[in-house]
Amino acid sequence: MTGPGLRVVLDADAIDATVERLAGELSGRFDDGVVLAAVLRGSVPFLADLSRAMTIHSLIDFLAITKYERGTGRVRLLKDLDIDITGRDVVVVEDIVDTGLTSAFLRGELTRRSPRSLTFCTFVDRVPARVVPVELDHVGVEIPDEFVIGYGLDYRGRYRNVKVLAAVDTDVLSSDPDAYVDELYLS
Ligand code: 5GP
Repeated sequence: MTGPGLRVVLDADAIDATVERLAGELSGRFDDGVVLAAVLRGSVPFLADLSRAMTIHSLIDFLAITKYERGTGRVRLLKDLDIDITGRDVVVVEDIVDTGLTSAFLRGELTRRSPRSLTFCTFVDRVPARVVPVELDHVGVEIPDEFVIGYGLDYRGRYRNVKVLAAVDTDVLSSDPDAYVDELYLS
């Protein structure tokens, strides 16, 4: 799986090992159960694996933020949590932290609800793309400034259910969004 413009960052085994590590970190940190607050939709595969690898009980809830628009700086809540997080240990589960706008917005929004603690866990951290500083407690993998797909991350809705994390050429994808389908699904 190394065609033109495509580089596998984490294969399925490396993803499993990363999730196990993060689940161990989180399970060792809380003894009383946590609320896993997952950011739709990219974090869903990560959430499913992480929650099942954790050895403490968890409640699962979802929130959604306005679509990613690089450079606009605007973030808005589209879907709120259903669970009242007051007094609870909350872990925000993200697919990727890029500009940091989503995480910064969520920290402000959720802190106002007085959780007992607020922890940020992201599968991918693209440090060089940061626009606002954010404090991340648990990070799966750090990547350089490149666009990634797979394991929840999409290109125009595609590739979310691929079980590798791959860096891709967005010029290739913008002329053909299906450019990597054969390589990522058929091999
Ligand atoms: P933020 O810029 O607020 O840190 O990240 C917002 C969202 O942008 C992420 O949750 C993710 O959905 C999307 N995003 C950022 N970088 C990438 C990337 O490299 N690949 C994909 N597929 N989505 C990304």
